Amino acid sequence: MKREDFPILKEQVHKRPLVYLDNAATSQKPQAVIDAISEAYCHWNSNIHRGVHHLSQVATMKHEEARKAVAAFIGAKSSDEIIFTKGTTDSLNALAFSFGEACIHEGDEIIVSAVEHHSNIVPWQMLCARKKAVLRHIPLREDKTLDIEAFKGLLNEKTKLVSVAHVSNVLGTINPVEEIIRIAHAGGVPVCIDGAQSVPHMHMDVQALDCDFLAFSGHKMYGPTGIGVLYGKREWLEKLPPHEGGGEMIDHVRWSGTTYNELPFKFEAGTPNFVGSYALHKAIEYIQSIGWEAVEAHERELTAYCEERLAGIEGVHIYAAGIPKAGVISFNVFTDHQSLIHPFDIGTLLDQQGVAARTGHHCAEPLIDDLGVPGTVRVSFGLYNDKSDVDAFIAALERAVQMLS
Ligand code: PLP
Repeated sequence: MKREDFPILKEQVHKRPLVYLDNAATSQKPQAVIDAISEAYCHWNSNIHRGVHHLSQVATMKHEEARKAVAAFIGAKSSDEIIFTKGTTDSLNALAFSFGEACIHEGDEIIVSAVEHHSNIVPWQMLCARKKAVLRHIPLREDKTLDIEAFKGLLNEKTKLVSVAHVSNVLGTINPVEEIIRIAHAGGVPVCIDGAQSVPHMHMDVQALDCDFLAFSGHKMYGPTGIGVLYGKREWLEKLPPHEGGGEMIDHVRWSGTTYNELPFKFEAGTPNFVGSYALHKAIEYIQSIGWEAVEAHERELTAYCEERLAGIEGVHIYAAGIPKAGVISFNVFTDHQSLIHPFDIGTLLDQQGVAARTGHHCAEPLIDDLGVPGTVRVSFGLYNDKSDVDAFIAALERAVQMLS
Protein backbone atom coordinates (compact mmCIF):
# COMPACT_ATOMS: atom_id res chain seq x y z
CA MET A 1 0.00 0.00 0.00
CA LYS A 2 1.54 3.30 -1.19
CA ARG A 3 5.09 2.74 0.06
CA GLU A 4 6.46 4.93 -2.70
CA ASP A 5 4.69 7.96 -1.19
CA PHE A 6 7.00 7.80 1.86
CA PRO A 7 10.55 8.79 0.84
CA ILE A 8 12.17 7.64 4.10
CA LEU A 9 11.19 4.03 3.38
CA LYS A 10 13.86 3.98 0.66
CA GLU A 11 16.57 4.57 3.29
CA GLN A 12 19.08 1.92 4.29
CA VAL A 13 19.99 1.32 7.94
CA HIS A 14 23.28 -0.46 8.68
CA LYS A 15 23.41 -1.19 4.91
CA ARG A 16 20.07 -3.03 5.08
CA PRO A 17 16.74 -1.83 3.70
CA LEU A 18 14.83 -0.05 6.45
CA VAL A 19 11.99 -2.08 7.97
CA TYR A 20 10.12 0.51 10.02
CA LEU A 21 7.97 -1.08 12.73
CA ASP A 22 7.91 1.74 15.28
CA ASN A 23 4.76 3.50 14.12
CA ALA A 24 3.22 3.68 17.59
CA ALA A 25 6.07 6.01 18.56
CA THR A 26 5.80 8.09 15.41
CA SER A 27 4.72 7.43 11.84
CA GLN A 28 6.62 8.34 8.70
CA LYS A 29 5.39 11.18 6.48
CA PRO A 30 4.12 11.03 2.90
CA GLN A 31 5.62 13.41 0.33
CA ALA A 32 2.39 15.46 0.38
CA VAL A 33 2.94 16.31 4.06
CA ILE A 34 6.65 17.07 3.57
CA ASP A 35 5.81 19.30 0.59
CA ALA A 36 3.12 21.13 2.57
CA ILE A 37 5.67 22.29 5.15
CA SER A 38 8.00 23.56 2.47
CA GLU A 39 5.11 25.20 0.57
CA ALA A 40 4.01 27.08 3.70
CA TYR A 41 7.45 28.56 4.37
CA CYS A 42 8.16 29.28 0.69
CA HIS A 43 4.84 30.88 -0.19
CA TRP A 44 2.59 32.11 2.62
CA ASN A 45 4.33 32.03 5.99
CA SER A 46 2.87 34.82 8.12
CA ASN A 47 1.38 35.11 11.58
CA ILE A 48 -2.33 34.43 11.60
CA HIS A 49 -5.59 36.02 12.78
CA ARG A 50 -4.76 39.69 13.25
CA GLY A 51 -2.98 40.57 10.02
CA VAL A 52 -4.81 42.60 7.35
CA HIS A 53 -2.16 41.83 4.77
CA HIS A 54 -2.49 39.13 2.14
CA LEU A 55 -0.08 36.54 3.52
CA SER A 56 -1.62 36.69 6.97
CA GLN A 57 -5.05 36.19 5.49
CA VAL A 58 -3.90 33.20 3.46
CA ALA A 59 -2.22 31.64 6.51
CA THR A 60 -5.31 32.26 8.65
CA MET A 61 -7.56 30.66 6.03
CA LYS A 62 -5.31 27.57 5.79
CA HIS A 63 -5.27 27.18 9.59
CA GLU A 64 -9.05 27.48 9.89
CA GLU A 65 -9.61 25.14 6.93
CA ALA A 66 -7.43 22.61 8.74
CA ARG A 67 -9.59 22.97 11.84
CA LYS A 68 -12.70 22.23 9.75
CA ALA A 69 -10.97 19.21 8.19
CA VAL A 70 -10.08 17.84 11.64
CA ALA A 71 -13.66 18.36 12.83
CA ALA A 72 -15.03 16.45 9.83
CA PHE A 73 -12.35 13.75 10.22
CA ILE A 74 -13.45 12.88 13.77
CA GLY A 75 -17.14 13.67 13.30
CA ALA A 76 -17.27 16.70 15.60
CA LYS A 77 -20.42 18.81 15.50
CA SER A 78 -18.46 22.03 15.00
CA SER A 79 -14.89 23.16 14.29
CA ASP A 80 -15.20 25.35 17.42
CA GLU A 81 -14.79 22.12 19.36
CA ILE A 82 -11.29 21.53 17.89
CA ILE A 83 -8.41 22.98 19.91
CA PHE A 84 -4.98 22.76 18.30
CA THR A 85 -2.29 21.69 20.74
CA LYS A 86 1.26 20.33 20.50
CA GLY A 87 0.09 16.70 20.72
CA THR A 88 -1.69 14.20 22.93
CA THR A 89 0.42 14.98 26.00
CA ASP A 90 -0.20 18.69 25.62
CA SER A 91 -3.95 18.07 25.12
CA LEU A 92 -4.21 15.93 28.25
CA ASN A 93 -2.20 18.41 30.33
CA ALA A 94 -4.40 21.26 29.10
CA LEU A 95 -7.53 19.34 30.00
CA ALA A 96 -6.18 18.25 33.40
CA PHE A 97 -5.38 21.85 34.31
CA SER A 98 -8.54 23.39 32.94
CA PHE A 99 -10.97 20.70 34.09
CA GLY A 100 -9.15 20.56 37.40
CA GLU A 101 -9.55 24.29 38.01
CA ALA A 102 -13.27 24.20 37.30
CA CYS A 103 -14.44 20.81 38.48
CA ILE A 104 -12.06 19.07 40.92
CA HIS A 105 -12.15 19.61 44.66
CA GLU A 106 -10.67 17.90 47.69
CA GLY A 107 -11.75 14.26 47.91
CA ASP A 108 -12.96 14.03 44.29
CA GLU A 109 -11.92 11.01 42.24
CA ILE A 110 -10.63 10.55 38.68
CA ILE A 111 -10.48 7.14 37.01
CA VAL A 112 -7.91 6.03 34.43
CA SER A 113 -6.98 2.47 33.45
CA ALA A 114 -4.13 0.02 34.02
CA VAL A 115 -2.91 0.39 30.43
CA GLU A 116 -2.37 4.14 30.31
CA HIS A 117 0.61 5.90 28.77
CA HIS A 118 2.31 8.20 31.32
CA SER A 119 0.69 11.14 29.47
CA ASN A 120 -2.69 9.97 30.74
CA ILE A 121 -1.45 9.32 34.27
CA VAL A 122 0.98 12.04 35.31
CA PRO A 123 -1.18 15.13 34.50
CA TRP A 124 -3.97 13.60 36.64
CA GLN A 125 -1.52 12.76 39.43
CA MET A 126 -0.30 16.37 39.37
CA LEU A 127 -3.89 17.60 39.48
CA CYS A 128 -4.74 15.24 42.33
CA ALA A 129 -1.72 16.45 44.32
CA ARG A 130 -2.77 20.07 43.71
CA LYS A 131 -6.40 19.55 44.66
CA LYS A 132 -6.08 16.71 47.20
CA ALA A 133 -8.10 14.49 44.89
CA VAL A 134 -7.69 10.74 44.31
CA LEU A 135 -6.60 8.90 41.15
CA ARG A 136 -8.00 5.38 40.68
CA HIS A 137 -7.42 2.91 37.87
CA ILE A 138 -9.40 0.15 36.20
CA PRO A 139 -7.42 -3.10 36.70
CA LEU A 140 -6.70 -5.77 34.09
CA ARG A 141 -8.23 -9.23 33.90
CA GLU A 142 -6.07 -12.30 33.45
CA ASP A 143 -6.36 -11.99 29.63
CA LYS A 144 -5.03 -8.37 29.81
CA THR A 145 -8.33 -6.76 28.91
CA LEU A 146 -9.88 -4.13 31.20
CA ASP A 147 -12.03 -5.40 34.05
CA ILE A 148 -15.29 -3.59 33.39
CA GLU A 149 -17.01 -5.05 36.47
CA ALA A 150 -14.22 -3.56 38.60
CA PHE A 151 -14.73 -0.25 36.77
CA LYS A 152 -18.40 -0.25 37.81
CA GLY A 153 -17.25 -0.77 41.39
CA LEU A 154 -14.85 2.20 41.21
CA LEU A 155 -17.50 4.66 40.02
CA ASN A 156 -19.22 6.56 42.81
CA GLU A 157 -20.62 10.00 43.61
CA LYS A 158 -17.07 11.34 44.12
CA THR A 159 -16.00 10.37 40.56
CA LYS A 160 -15.67 13.52 38.44
CA LEU A 161 -13.93 12.25 35.28
CA VAL A 162 -12.92 9.04 33.52
CA SER A 163 -9.91 9.26 31.15
CA VAL A 164 -8.91 6.11 29.25
CA ALA A 165 -6.80 5.09 26.29
CA HIS A 166 -8.79 3.84 23.32
CA VAL A 167 -5.92 1.56 22.25
CA SER A 168 -3.06 0.46 24.51
CA ASN A 169 0.29 1.62 23.14
CA VAL A 170 1.90 -1.47 24.70
CA LEU A 171 -0.60 -4.28 24.13
CA GLY A 172 -2.41 -2.93 21.07
CA THR A 173 -5.68 -4.01 22.67
CA ILE A 174 -8.79 -1.96 21.89
CA ASN A 175 -10.50 -0.90 25.10
CA PRO A 176 -14.32 -1.06 25.17
CA VAL A 177 -14.65 2.71 25.24
CA GLU A 178 -18.29 2.66 24.04
CA GLU A 179 -19.22 0.62 27.10
CA ILE A 180 -17.05 2.72 29.44
CA ILE A 181 -18.69 5.91 28.17
CA ARG A 182 -22.19 4.44 28.53
CA ILE A 183 -21.53 3.32 32.11
CA ALA A 184 -19.84 6.60 33.11
CA HIS A 185 -22.57 8.73 31.55
CA ALA A 186 -25.24 6.74 33.38
CA GLY A 187 -23.59 8.08 36.55
CA GLY A 188 -23.32 11.61 35.09
CA VAL A 189 -19.52 11.36 34.70
CA PRO A 190 -17.76 12.77 31.58
CA VAL A 191 -15.19 10.70 29.68
CA CYS A 192 -11.95 11.69 27.97
CA ILE A 193 -10.48 9.32 25.40
CA ASP A 194 -6.74 9.20 24.75
CA GLY A 195 -6.87 8.57 21.02
CA ALA A 196 -3.11 8.68 20.37
CA GLN A 197 -3.12 5.06 19.18
CA SER A 198 -6.65 4.84 17.79
CA VAL A 199 -7.13 7.95 15.65
CA PRO A 200 -4.30 6.90 13.26
CA HIS A 201 -5.76 3.42 12.81
CA MET A 202 -9.56 3.54 12.86
CA HIS A 203 -12.46 5.69 11.84
CA MET A 204 -13.47 7.89 14.76
CA ASP A 205 -16.84 9.50 15.19
CA VAL A 206 -16.91 11.49 18.41
CA GLN A 207 -20.64 12.13 18.19
CA ALA A 208 -21.50 8.45 17.75
CA LEU A 209 -19.00 7.52 20.47
CA ASP A 210 -20.37 10.32 22.65
CA CYS A 211 -17.01 10.96 24.35
CA ASP A 212 -16.75 14.34 26.06
CA PHE A 213 -13.08 14.87 25.17
CA LEU A 214 -10.62 13.25 22.75
CA ALA A 215 -6.85 13.83 22.60
CA PHE A 216 -4.54 12.82 19.74
CA SER A 217 -1.22 13.65 18.01
CA GLY A 218 -0.55 14.61 14.38
CA HIS A 219 2.84 12.91 14.20
CA LYS A 220 1.41 9.43 14.82
CA MET A 221 -1.05 9.81 11.92
CA TYR A 222 1.39 10.71 9.11
CA GLY A 223 1.34 14.41 10.02
CA PRO A 224 4.16 16.57 11.38
CA THR A 225 5.46 16.78 14.93
CA GLY A 226 4.36 19.63 17.18
CA ILE A 227 0.66 19.57 16.30
CA GLY A 228 -2.15 17.72 18.02
CA VAL A 229 -5.77 18.09 18.95
CA LEU A 230 -7.97 18.34 21.99
CA TYR A 231 -11.60 17.82 21.02
CA GLY A 232 -14.20 18.76 23.60
CA LYS A 233 -17.96 18.97 23.49
CA ARG A 234 -18.98 22.61 23.27
CA GLU A 235 -20.96 22.41 26.54
CA TRP A 236 -17.80 21.40 28.37
CA LEU A 237 -15.34 23.74 26.64
CA GLU A 238 -17.59 26.70 27.32
CA LYS A 239 -17.64 25.85 31.03
CA LEU A 240 -13.87 25.36 31.39
CA PRO A 241 -11.34 28.16 31.95
CA PRO A 242 -8.29 28.62 29.69
CA HIS A 243 -5.14 26.81 30.79
CA GLU A 244 -2.69 29.36 29.40
CA GLY A 245 -2.77 33.15 28.98
CA GLY A 246 -1.63 35.48 26.20
CA GLY A 247 -2.12 35.98 22.45
CA GLU A 248 -5.32 34.99 20.70
CA MET A 249 -7.05 33.68 23.83
CA ILE A 250 -8.09 37.16 25.01
CA ASP A 251 -11.15 39.25 24.31
CA HIS A 252 -9.97 42.42 26.11
CA VAL A 253 -7.08 43.03 28.48
CA ARG A 254 -7.27 45.85 31.01
CA TRP A 255 -5.28 46.43 34.20
CA SER A 256 -8.51 45.64 35.97
CA GLY A 257 -8.59 42.18 34.38
CA THR A 258 -8.98 40.15 31.18
CA THR A 259 -11.99 38.74 29.39
CA TYR A 260 -11.50 35.68 27.24
CA ASN A 261 -12.09 35.00 23.55
CA GLU A 262 -14.76 32.62 22.29
CA LEU A 263 -14.17 28.99 21.33
CA PRO A 264 -11.85 27.61 20.15
CA PHE A 265 -9.44 30.54 20.56
CA LYS A 266 -9.91 30.70 24.33
CA PHE A 267 -7.65 27.64 24.52
CA GLU A 268 -5.03 28.72 21.97
CA ALA A 269 -2.61 31.15 23.63
CA GLY A 270 0.37 32.34 21.60
CA THR A 271 1.16 31.92 17.92
CA PRO A 272 -0.49 28.66 16.83
CA ASN A 273 1.39 26.07 14.81
CA PHE A 274 -0.32 27.05 11.55
CA VAL A 275 2.27 25.29 9.38
CA GLY A 276 1.67 22.14 11.44
CA SER A 277 -2.11 22.39 11.13
CA TYR A 278 -1.78 22.80 7.35
CA ALA A 279 0.47 19.74 7.09
CA LEU A 280 -1.88 17.79 9.38
CA HIS A 281 -4.70 18.69 6.99
CA LYS A 282 -2.63 17.12 4.19
CA ALA A 283 -2.11 13.98 6.32
CA ILE A 284 -5.88 13.73 6.82
CA GLU A 285 -6.44 14.09 3.08
CA TYR A 286 -3.84 11.39 2.53
CA ILE A 287 -5.61 8.92 4.84
CA GLN A 288 -8.95 9.82 3.25
CA SER A 289 -7.55 9.21 -0.24
CA ILE A 290 -6.91 5.60 0.76
CA GLY A 291 -10.10 5.25 2.80
CA TRP A 292 -10.67 3.92 6.31
CA GLU A 293 -12.08 0.62 5.15
CA ALA A 294 -8.89 -0.22 3.24
CA VAL A 295 -6.58 1.07 5.99
CA GLU A 296 -8.36 -0.84 8.76
CA ALA A 297 -8.60 -4.08 6.79
CA HIS A 298 -4.93 -3.91 5.75
CA GLU A 299 -3.64 -3.23 9.27
CA ARG A 300 -5.92 -5.87 10.82
CA GLU A 301 -4.66 -8.49 8.38
CA LEU A 302 -1.02 -7.49 8.86
CA THR A 303 -1.23 -7.52 12.67
CA ALA A 304 -2.91 -10.95 12.66
CA TYR A 305 -0.28 -12.27 10.22
CA CYS A 306 2.57 -10.96 12.40
CA GLU A 307 1.04 -12.39 15.58
CA GLU A 308 0.64 -15.77 13.90
CA ARG A 309 4.25 -15.78 12.67
CA LEU A 310 5.56 -14.64 16.07
CA ALA A 311 3.61 -17.36 17.86
CA GLY A 312 5.46 -19.91 15.69
CA ILE A 313 8.84 -18.97 17.22
CA GLU A 314 9.84 -21.05 20.21
CA GLY A 315 10.08 -19.10 23.46
CA VAL A 316 8.07 -16.10 22.24
CA HIS A 317 5.43 -14.85 24.68
CA ILE A 318 2.94 -12.42 23.16
CA TYR A 319 1.08 -10.17 25.62
CA ALA A 320 -2.71 -10.22 25.22
CA ALA A 321 -2.26 -13.03 22.68
CA GLY A 322 -5.35 -13.74 20.60
CA ILE A 323 -7.09 -10.48 21.61
CA PRO A 324 -7.89 -8.19 18.62
CA LYS A 325 -5.26 -5.46 18.26
CA ALA A 326 -4.93 -2.15 16.46
CA GLY A 327 -1.53 -2.35 14.81
CA VAL A 328 0.61 -2.98 17.93
CA ILE A 329 2.13 -6.22 19.29
CA SER A 330 4.31 -6.58 22.40
CA PHE A 331 6.27 -9.69 23.22
CA ASN A 332 9.24 -11.13 25.03
CA VAL A 333 11.41 -14.15 24.33
CA PHE A 334 12.28 -16.72 26.98
CA THR A 335 15.06 -19.30 26.66
CA ASP A 336 14.69 -23.07 27.30
CA HIS A 337 15.24 -22.39 30.99
CA GLN A 338 12.48 -19.80 31.12
CA SER A 339 14.89 -16.91 31.53
CA LEU A 340 14.05 -13.69 29.76
CA ILE A 341 16.22 -12.51 26.90
CA HIS A 342 16.42 -8.80 27.66
CA PRO A 343 14.24 -6.89 25.19
CA PHE A 344 17.01 -4.32 24.73
CA ASP A 345 19.36 -7.03 23.43
CA ILE A 346 16.75 -8.19 20.95
CA GLY A 347 16.06 -4.61 19.85
CA THR A 348 19.78 -4.00 19.29
CA LEU A 349 20.18 -7.10 17.12
CA LEU A 350 17.02 -6.25 15.17
CA ASP A 351 18.39 -2.76 14.54
CA GLN A 352 21.64 -4.18 13.20
CA GLN A 353 19.53 -6.00 10.61
CA GLY A 354 17.69 -2.81 9.61
CA VAL A 355 14.54 -3.48 11.66
CA ALA A 356 13.28 -0.56 13.76
CA ALA A 357 11.33 -1.98 16.72
CA ARG A 358 10.93 -0.38 20.14
CA THR A 359 12.01 -1.90 23.42
CA GLY A 360 11.53 -0.90 27.04
CA HIS A 361 8.60 0.34 29.11
CA HIS A 362 6.98 2.35 26.29
CA CYS A 363 6.11 5.16 28.74
CA ALA A 364 3.69 2.84 30.51
CA GLU A 365 5.62 1.73 33.58
CA PRO A 366 2.59 0.75 35.71
CA LEU A 367 1.46 -1.66 32.97
CA ILE A 368 4.98 -3.08 32.51
CA ASP A 369 5.13 -3.62 36.30
CA ASP A 370 1.81 -5.49 36.03
CA LEU A 371 3.31 -7.70 33.32
CA GLY A 372 6.20 -8.49 35.69
CA VAL A 373 8.99 -7.83 33.17
CA PRO A 374 11.57 -5.04 32.73
CA GLY A 375 10.08 -4.18 29.34
CA THR A 376 8.87 -5.69 26.08
CA VAL A 377 9.79 -5.68 22.42
CA ARG A 378 7.09 -3.84 20.51
CA VAL A 379 6.36 -3.83 16.79
CA SER A 380 3.74 -1.47 15.43
CA PHE A 381 2.39 -0.99 11.93
CA GLY A 382 1.42 1.84 9.64
CA LEU A 383 -0.56 1.79 6.42
CA TYR A 384 2.64 1.46 4.34
CA ASN A 385 3.86 -1.73 6.05
CA ASP A 386 3.24 -5.04 4.33
CA LYS A 387 3.88 -8.75 4.72
CA SER A 388 7.44 -8.37 3.41
CA ASP A 389 8.18 -6.17 6.46
CA VAL A 390 6.77 -8.84 8.77
CA ASP A 391 8.77 -11.57 7.02
CA ALA A 392 11.98 -9.51 7.27
CA PHE A 393 11.28 -8.84 10.95
CA ILE A 394 10.59 -12.51 11.72
CA ALA A 395 13.78 -13.62 9.94
CA ALA A 396 15.78 -10.98 11.86
CA LEU A 397 14.18 -12.01 15.15
CA GLU A 398 14.96 -15.69 14.54
CA ARG A 399 18.59 -14.77 13.95
CA ALA A 400 18.68 -12.58 17.06
CA VAL A 401 17.15 -15.29 19.25
CA GLN A 402 19.59 -17.86 17.91
CA MET A 403 22.51 -15.60 18.81
CA LEU A 404 21.18 -14.76 22.29
CA SER A 405 19.96 -18.21 23.40
N1 PLP B 1 -1.01 8.35 24.81
C1 PLP B 1 -0.69 7.22 24.18
C2 PLP B 1 -1.62 6.04 24.26
C3 PLP B 1 0.48 7.15 23.43
O1 PLP B 1 0.81 6.02 22.80
C4 PLP B 1 1.32 8.28 23.37
C5 PLP B 1 2.60 8.23 22.63
O2 PLP B 1 3.16 7.19 22.39
C6 PLP B 1 0.94 9.44 24.04
C7 PLP B 1 -0.23 9.44 24.75
C8 PLP B 1 1.77 10.68 23.98
O3 PLP B 1 1.78 11.21 22.70
P1 PLP B 1 2.68 12.48 22.34
O4 PLP B 1 4.08 12.13 22.73
O5 PLP B 1 2.52 12.65 20.86
O6 PLP B 1 2.16 13.63 23.12
